[in-house]
Amino acid sequence: MVVPYTHEPFTDFTVEENRRKMEDALKKIEAEFGKEYPLIIGGERITTEDKIKVVNPANKEEVLGFVSKSNKELADKAMEVADETFKTWRKSDPNFRADILFRAAAIVRRRKFEFSAHLVKEGGKPWKEADADTAEAIDFLEYYGRQMLKIKDGVEVNSRPIEHNQFHYIPLGVGLVISPWNFLFAIMAGTTTAAMVTGNTVLLKPASATPIIAYKLMEVLEEAGMPKGVVNYIPGPGSEVGDYLVEHPRTRFVSFTGSREVGTRIFERAAVVQEGQIWLKRTIIEMGGKDTIVVDNEADLELAAESIVQSAFGFSGQKCSACSRAVIHEDVYDQVKNRVIELTNELTHGDPTDNHNFMGPVIDQAAYDKIMGYIEIGKEEGKLVAGGEGDDSKGWFIKPTVFADVDPKARIMQEEIFGPVVALTKAKDFDEAIEIANNTEYGLTGAVITNNREHLEQARVDFHVGNLYFNRGCTAAIVGYQPFGGFNMSGTDSKAGGPDYLIQHMQGKTTSEML
Ligand code: GLU
Repeated sequence: MVVPYTHEPFTDFTVEENRRKMEDALKKIEAEFGKEYPLIIGGERITTEDKIKVVNPANKEEVLGFVSKSNKELADKAMEVADETFKTWRKSDPNFRADILFRAAAIVRRRKFEFSAHLVKEGGKPWKEADADTAEAIDFLEYYGRQMLKIKDGVEVNSRPIEHNQFHYIPLGVGLVISPWNFLFAIMAGTTTAAMVTGNTVLLKPASATPIIAYKLMEVLEEAGMPKGVVNYIPGPGSEVGDYLVEHPRTRFVSFTGSREVGTRIFERAAVVQEGQIWLKRTIIEMGGKDTIVVDNEADLELAAESIVQSAFGFSGQKCSACSRAVIHEDVYDQVKNRVIELTNELTHGDPTDNHNFMGPVIDQAAYDKIMGYIEIGKEEGKLVAGGEGDDSKGWFIKPTVFADVDPKARIMQEEIFGPVVALTKAKDFDEAIEIANNTEYGLTGAVITNNREHLEQARVDFHVGNLYFNRGCTAAIVGYQPFGGFNMSGTDSKAGGPDYLIQHMQGKTTSEML
């Protein structure tokens, strides 16, 4: 028996001892900077000539490591190994598989500060965000392990006196997992272990900006007893390795979290049946958002302003759940706007190694350029009332930025920016606010701040998002508490950290025996 699941508590960094442990960890991991990381295929370490140079986004000069890059040949080799390993792994005991996840969670928990310190450097995450990312990685391991135990014996179906019927889930095959850089630990670990605990074998291609944490997960899984070849670590360029494996006839499913552009491309390419392919590929796709906080006139306005600012600027707005638009009832618009500006101007930002900074950098030059481009567009489309400046001399830093009086159809109100930029707009009543909130192509998260019960009930039905929050911000879903995933162009609503997540990596098999 395993103890019931509860989420991993967050670390309180106001406690001196915790602060010291984190500072020690940040020092300790410096010894690893500049190390080389090989690929792992069938447990074998393979070093390639060509390498990904991984840098700290807050300090480009700080090179964290050089990670071997896979190519088509190595992707083929990994596929062969994964295909072969599937023959045995698919029959492995689900209890054994779940135990690997439980042991992995225990290993990460013991070394929590070290992992979080690494996320500060590789992801540019402030302490609080790094700690939450590590906690969520532990949660995914604990939760999916337990979910596997729940579904391992199948689901009850009817039998008759003359026949015995059974229905249970079996794995799919080789899964390609392409993970993002924003929740570099949690989503990478969650998508990888969901695929493997269900009896599939995995080709793990982590984001090129953050491949080291994925190598560390491999080490943890190995230490936890994962047999060779079950998860294979093959970082490399999406254009070469990613596309190739998405189209590979032996790929059975693709689990992707990342941009809409890449997600859509994967969806299209995975749909084409290749020569020699004997199945229709499954895709589990989580893409972007254009997430809205709606503020009603009967509302706690301080809570509204805080929710907007926290959800817009936590981890520099680089969450697909981030608030990038606020729709505010005209009666309270000026009040909320002014408070948002005040709170934004109070935010501290800079190198996240320093715990005083609420906000750190954005991930890389491409992100910096894209966000700065949108800030220029915003200047045309609305009134810049806070931030607006960037500095990419040492790291990729952009000030928390607020645009006011923006038309709901403006580009900065419609397109995902994935940076610390929020746009405010006015609505004449609650109906119009919900209409504006729904007027994007996305449908991931949203929040409503109101004390009006009828309006909450109206939003419950009409606000079309996968994760809807009342009287709080729109980020920070917790595994097993708020299953996470969105509608429309936000993805396949696969609900990570939810009760039906694992079976998407499986197929139902009915067995009927005459008695
Ligand atoms: N699950 C995260 C949240 O609720 C966001 C995940 C993402 O950005 O991909 O904030």
